[in-house]
Amino acid sequence: MSTISVAGADIDTRHFIGGVRVSSTETYTNTSPIDGTFLGEISRGGATEVEQAVAAARAAFPAWAALGPQGRGALLHKLADLVEENNETLSQLETMDNGSLLRSHRRGVMPRVAMNIRFFADWAMNELRHEPFETRGHTNNVSWDPSGVAALITPWNAPLMLATWKIGPALAAGDTVILKPAEWTPLSASFFADLTVKAGIPAGVFNVVQGYGAEAGAALVAHPGISRISFTGSVPTAKIIARAAADNLTPCSFELGGKSPMIVLGDADLDLAAEIAVEQYDNAGQVCLSGTRIFVHESVADEFQAKFAERAAKITQGDPRDENTDIGPQIHQVHFDRIKGFVDRAAAEGQNIVWGGTPNADLGGLYFTPTLVLEPTPGAEVVTQEIFGPVLTMMTFSTDEEVIERANGTEFGLAAVVVSGNKDHAKKITDVLVAGTIWVNCFFVRDLRAPFGGSKKSGIGRDGGTWSFDFYADVKNTVVSPNGWKE
Ligand code: NAD
Repeated sequence: MSTISVAGADIDTRHFIGGVRVSSTETYTNTSPIDGTFLGEISRGGATEVEQAVAAARAAFPAWAALGPQGRGALLHKLADLVEENNETLSQLETMDNGSLLRSHRRGVMPRVAMNIRFFADWAMNELRHEPFETRGHTNNVSWDPSGVAALITPWNAPLMLATWKIGPALAAGDTVILKPAEWTPLSASFFADLTVKAGIPAGVFNVVQGYGAEAGAALVAHPGISRISFTGSVPTAKIIARAAADNLTPCSFELGGKSPMIVLGDADLDLAAEIAVEQYDNAGQVCLSGTRIFVHESVADEFQAKFAERAAKITQGDPRDENTDIGPQIHQVHFDRIKGFVDRAAAEGQNIVWGGTPNADLGGLYFTPTLVLEPTPGAEVVTQEIFGPVLTMMTFSTDEEVIERANGTEFGLAAVVVSGNKDHAKKITDVLVAGTIWVNCFFVRDLRAPFGGSKKSGIGRDGGTWSFDFYADVKNTVVSPNGWKE
């Protein structure tokens, strides 16, 4: 059966290649993390389907590139309209597939999905320009030309949100795309493919190949017919992709993991700090940006911990479709076991687990309770490795110099949070933190005009505004001499 009904919508479980549905001989089973409900058998792609998708995307490229920013923009705005019209279906679908909160999908995520598409369509039409400048009377004209076929590989924690951060700028830049969604969350990409048809986006411009990373993903990134690889996922996978890309020298953009610090200075508003700390459990900790290492100045540590504990105790864990739920399940049994492994090993090492630390006994399934490890031993894996679950660590510090060194002391550099009541003090810290994004007295504020990405092993490149086009497009400079004209 190639069509399944999820949340009242008909979802095709096959690939979407060259404007038509394509099946594979093999499938894999997709279940909901909410309660293990069987969702469907999904086509399991590999080299054959990737070959077809690259051929389709290459065939569609010249006409799509020739449409220009205005022509593409009109179609992308129609696509964004359709996302908005289908907010409810997309929200329900995403929640069933990945277990994130339905209310967040409805009110925050899906509107942002539409905005991701609109923003980059508008940026290509209105903002993507560089004033010509003279060199000894010669004029430099900088342009952003479509580059070819972009391979987009995305994780499961925010499937359509993260996919459209790539789809928006890639299509607006004039590239055609092949999306390989995470195998645990294939459904929203499939439904989105139908919306591209309704929007009038020509066949072959947007393609979806479903399947496992080691099969469909590996075949895609190794293909010589693609011009860009945009990947969001883990550091180990990025290393494999970088090796495959090296053979064809395919440019890569990597948005990777983190182990971000949240620093509560002695002058911080502790109620605000506790509010922000609780947010680090959002999406059951499955957020790359999450500030999982909370450093608190020793002068306020007891008071902060009490306020944090009071708020953390109020977190409601449960069915993500329930309006009152704050955090839902982990994505998959494999991931749940990985998180549990970290916590069990921490307990065996004698680390101080002050709350949580166990699967949620009332809910069963994939629900892991919000957990705090206090003063883990320096160098312990809970404080160096990305767990990607609802497991936070809290440590006290005494001087700015000490906390700066410890905050910067991981292989990651994705994000950081600083909570302070003094602007100069906060700036002293933010000036020397190594991170792609730093939030001061806030969390998760993101503007698509701003650069987004990771330092150190948290990524290569930046998304947002012109930075996105610098990656997806071929940036060209045409130097025109004042001499030689016949007219
Ligand atoms: P993952 O690396 O396991 O998988 C990500 C994607 O890569 C999936 O689609 C997977 O199928 C594919 N893949 C796996 N092996 C592949 C291969 N050999 N070749 C090509 N593709 C392959 O990551 P995940 O578990 O899905 O996601 C969690 C990770 O993503 C965390 O590390 C998290 O921090 C990171 N993440 C980063 C950001 C960011 O913006 N920096 C955002 C969300 C998630």
